[in-house]
Amino acid sequence: MSPHSVLEHVFGYRSFRGEQETIVSHVAGGGDALVLMPTGGGKSLCYQIPALLRDGCGVVVSPLIALMQDQVDALKELGVAAAYLNSSLNQEEARDVENAFINGQLKMLYVAPERLVTPRFMALLKRAHIGLFAIDEAHCVSQWGHDFRPEYLALSLLADEFPGIPRIALTATADHATRTEMIGRLRLEDAQKFVSSFDRPNLRYAMVEKKNARDQLLTFIRREHEGDSGIVYCLSRKKVEDTAAWLKAKEINALPYHAGLDVSVRTKNQQQFIRQEGVVMVATIAFGMGIDKPDVRFVAHLDLPKSIENYYQETGRAGRDGLPANTWLAYGLQDLILLNSMIDNSGSPDMQKLVERRKLDAMLGLVEATACRRQTLLGYFGEASQPCGNCDNCINPPKLVEMTEAARKALSCIFRTGNRFGVGHLVDILQGKATPKVKEHFHDRITTFGIGKEVDESSWRAVFRQLLARGAVRLNESGHGGLELTDAARPLLKGETSLFLRERTEKFNYKGEKGSDFVASSDQALWQALRRRRKELADEQNVPAYIIFGDATLKEMVRLRPGDHYEMSRVSGIGDRKLEKYGNDFLKVIEENH
Ligand code: ADP
Ligand code: ZN
Repeated sequence: MSPHSVLEHVFGYRSFRGEQETIVSHVAGGGDALVLMPTGGGKSLCYQIPALLRDGCGVVVSPLIALMQDQVDALKELGVAAAYLNSSLNQEEARDVENAFINGQLKMLYVAPERLVTPRFMALLKRAHIGLFAIDEAHCVSQWGHDFRPEYLALSLLADEFPGIPRIALTATADHATRTEMIGRLRLEDAQKFVSSFDRPNLRYAMVEKKNARDQLLTFIRREHEGDSGIVYCLSRKKVEDTAAWLKAKEINALPYHAGLDVSVRTKNQQQFIRQEGVVMVATIAFGMGIDKPDVRFVAHLDLPKSIENYYQETGRAGRDGLPANTWLAYGLQDLILLNSMIDNSGSPDMQKLVERRKLDAMLGLVEATACRRQTLLGYFGEASQPCGNCDNCINPPKLVEMTEAARKALSCIFRTGNRFGVGHLVDILQGKATPKVKEHFHDRITTFGIGKEVDESSWRAVFRQLLARGAVRLNESGHGGLELTDAARPLLKGETSLFLRERTEKFNYKGEKGSDFVASSDQALWQALRRRRKELADEQNVPAYIIFGDATLKEMVRLRPGDHYEMSRVSGIGDRKLEKYGNDFLKVIEENH
């Protein structure tokens, strides 16, 4: 069989994406590979197809039980002899899998890393016929990343013990340091490197200023994502619980998830998120890795992420299926103050604090950007691109208003009050409000008192955020949000440079042409009927709905309205096995909804 016929007959796809074909040929031909591809890029096929093409069984190292289970369920649905070995199996079940493996009855075996490297399992591997090793989520070998798994370190063994067997390592982690570390630790110096663009064109990026963030979130969900699955990230556990309860009271099907919840509750909530449709998970960043759910339609942030890396990874969980998805972030000055004081109080070495502050600055630069978000984001990872047409700034270019004069007043006010005070107090002084605190410090007697009455409070806050984003001011070491000037303030004060603010427009429509509302209203009846049938079939087999068919496949059924098996086989995502198993079911639904 050729790679292409496996793609078509087993997986039901018409063509390879991006570099998939080159990678598949390289690995199927026995070469080692390091694959860097964004989430949703289609990494799985890069090792699954070579495993099917080569003699022997493909052994896949995967860090998470839930993920393995999903992949194996999906492969079985396609008629592939696949199994997994992890701690969720009892001894007898594990023994059966091992026997099938040694007897050459499996085409693909998923194994947890800690099991793979035990002497007992190594001996087993020696007796089996292995086609390739795939190391999924390979960045787990990096000690600097937050997904570090010590068990991954031992995987370098594979290079020595099985020199003739191709190894393919895959990750969606983009940054350079992790890349280099992976190559060294996994002994992939001689492997061919395949680096894809990290762009996620189906994700729409939007960022708004916080006013009443919860209400803003609710409006966003109601307007754009009624009945969709989504994730809402919050910084603290308490906020997770409060927000989930609040959304629930507003009749959004929301659940909380954070590391402080009982394991059984966490597992249950995660299960519901994966199995049911339309669950909104409100979570700390403890939630995410290994969430392979392809139809997450939005990721919202109620708090500023610590870095662009975090933001990219978290938003990346939306739209794995390639269909349009929204990312939405609400930010305010308070976020910045909080994150800064968290860095200050972290007890980390100074060098690390410096790195963390730089990362936070870059994140602030992104939220304050007036140019294309995607360009800024990709640029941070060293990738050049054109304005995308699918972010808030491209769709609704902000009008810029010159605020140089106000910026100078703000800087002067910081200076006159001794580089000590926070934004609230500074704005009071600028607006000439003689609050008790202003009086206490005699700030109603300084020259900057009342010199900015013409500018409203939220514009003043925007000015201060811009000054922070440019590095003209920074938070001082008090940890209470006090601002101080930096050298970068000088050109502004001297009138050598200007400062522009985006005029705040509230009416950004997230939907638009590429939005997530992708089924026309005249097709809604069929779409809903197909979804119902899918859910019934999924429930019968106790698997998530997307294991039967992804939304992209159902959507294509709506578009093509196949009338017989041949036409059905032309639908993307329907291979031989699924056609045989479900073809009639779905043809019937289509006929009934004519
Ligand atoms: P990753 O592991 O890189 O996040 P996956 O391997 O899970 O991505 O693939 C993401 C989605 O894209 C899956 O639903 C998969 O079936 C689909 N997909 C992958 N390759 C193709 C292709 N060549 N044609 C159509 N769909 C594809
Ligand atoms: Zn853009």
